[in-house]
Parts: sequence; structure tokens; C-alpha cells
Amino acid sequence: MTGLGRRSLLKTATAAAGGLALGGTLSTTTLAAPAREAAAGSSTLNVRWIGGGVVEVATPDNKQVAYVDAWVWNNAAYSVLKVDRPSEFASAAAFASYVVAKSPDAVLVLLTHDHGDHMGDYFELLKALSGTGLNVKTTGQSDLMRGGLAQKFKDNGLDPAQVVVNGGAGQNFGGMAQQGAMRAWLVPAVHSNLLGFPSAGFILDIGGARVYASGDTDLYGDLRLVGDRYHPDLALVCAGGGPYTMGPRDAAMACALTGVSQAVPIHYGHNAQVLGAEAGAEFKLALSEISPATTAQVLNLAESRTITV
Ligand SMILES: [Zn+2]
Repeated sequence: MTGLGRRSLLKTATAAAGGLALGGTLSTTTLAAPAREAAAGSSTLNVRWIGGGVVEVATPDNKQVAYVDAWVWNNAAYSVLKVDRPSEFASAAAFASYVVAKSPDAVLVLLTHDHGDHMGDYFELLKALSGTGLNVKTTGQSDLMRGGLAQKFKDNGLDPAQVVVNGGAGQNFGGMAQQGAMRAWLVPAVHSNLLGFPSAGFILDIGGARVYASGDTDLYGDLRLVGDRYHPDLALVCAGGGPYTMGPRDAAMACALTGVSQAVPIHYGHNAQVLGAEAGAEFKLALSEISPATTAQVLNLAESRTITV
């Protein structure tokens, strides 16, 4: 490559990418994107909002079940939004029974980052689910899994080599995790953390659909690339505003950038500093203006909804 300047390298890269124009839409055939294995036609998922940024996503037969983050029985959304906490979300044991009753082939817990409103019940949840004999694994940013949390897994009686995907390694950005028939890729989130390992979002392949789970993030331009690369169908997108993340209008912009057809606003109504229930209506209005091709799926707290993409 001696003698090749940046311009030449760019030209080469551009040619290799099929003459990609700056600002244009990336062609899926020219990017090394993870292959899409969706069946022809539509796919259906059951999505349940546990509260704040925590969501359950399952195939209609409950064979594949994923949790985005783990803050359930301590989840403050029920007191903030004044909704009775369902009994299945009242304790670790009750939650484990609830998941066992689904008879899943595989359970995957996706940890976006180490803030308390995302991992407040993480270890106890993993311990409770593993204790039932369920096929449960977790994933998150690889150094958070191998370094930051390694001792805490052990302190909670969990063997990270068993409970964390990829033999304890988790996954890094662009890396893949598989659990049962589910696959997940880590994507960036513009956010922070406590232990020093990057916050993240996920792309989750489940039941022939692709889900973009934003985690906590601000709006950023490369969400367009996330859309062009992974083609998500459904976004679980933080919309609570306040001190920590983007609010409803920017969440709607994130939906436009990623090109999702369906979107569930999350990460609101779980503390006094973020928007309350009004965030759902604000998101729906913003979506109609900013990303009219995306359908808002505003869930009530603890509601389970069947969403077809
Ligand atoms: Zn956070």
C-alpha cells in the first residue's frame, strides 16, 4: 500500500463499496452486513414493557424470550406511574415462575450498561432463572462482562463462563452473540457508565424480526448506518428526556434514521426527573411528524402487546 494516499484509499474503498455516494443510502449488497434470515412476509413478536428501559421481547410461542436489561421487582416505574405491580414482577421467585411457565427453549438477558435502572436486579434475576434449570444466558459489552462484572457474577454464585455468552466473553461492537435461535449485535450508544466500560444498544434477531434496543442514548448520526447495516423492524427507543437521555422528538428522529416500521418508546416514567406518561403521547405525535412511516406502539406499564412487523 506504499504510496497510496488517503484519497486513493478512499477511492479504492468507494469502488469496493459499489461507487457509494456520500450521503447516499448504503447498499445492503455491498456492505458486510450480518445476513438477514427473516422468513418471507411478516413476523410477530410479543413485547411487554416492564418499566423504564426494561422490556421483554418474545416469540408468540414463547420459545425464544429476551429481556432488555434487568430491573424488575425494584423497578420504580410502578410507584412513579401509580400502577399496581403485577405479581409476577414482585419478586425474583415470582418472576422466575413466570418465565418458567412460558417453557422457553432459550432466554437471553441483554445488558445495555451498568446504571442501576438497567441492572438493579440483574444478578438476582440471572440467579433465579438459572436456578430453575432454564437455558438462560446474558450478554453485554465484552470488557464489562469479563472485567467489570466478573467478580460479581461469582459473588452471586454464577459462573460467567456458563451464564455469559461466548464462554464468558460477551461481545464487543460489531461482534455477535447467539443464544438459542436468537442472535444479537452490539451497537453504539452515546451515554456513560459507572465502571468504565462503554454503554451500548443492541440489534436483536428474534423470530424472524430485527429489534433495535437503544439502551440509554442521545441521538447520533450513525444511527443511519445502524439502519442501513442491520435493517431493524422495531425500535425500543429511550424517549424520557430529562437529565439522562434524548426525549420524544429525538427518539422519533432515531426511528427515522434507523428506518424501523414500529417503535415502542421506553425509559420514561421511572423516576421524577424524566418525563412521565406524557412521553408516550409526545413520542407518538413527534413520530407522525418526523417519521410518518413508523407506527408508534405506546404501551401502558406492564402491558404485553403483539406487534407484527
Ligand atoms: Zn443510563
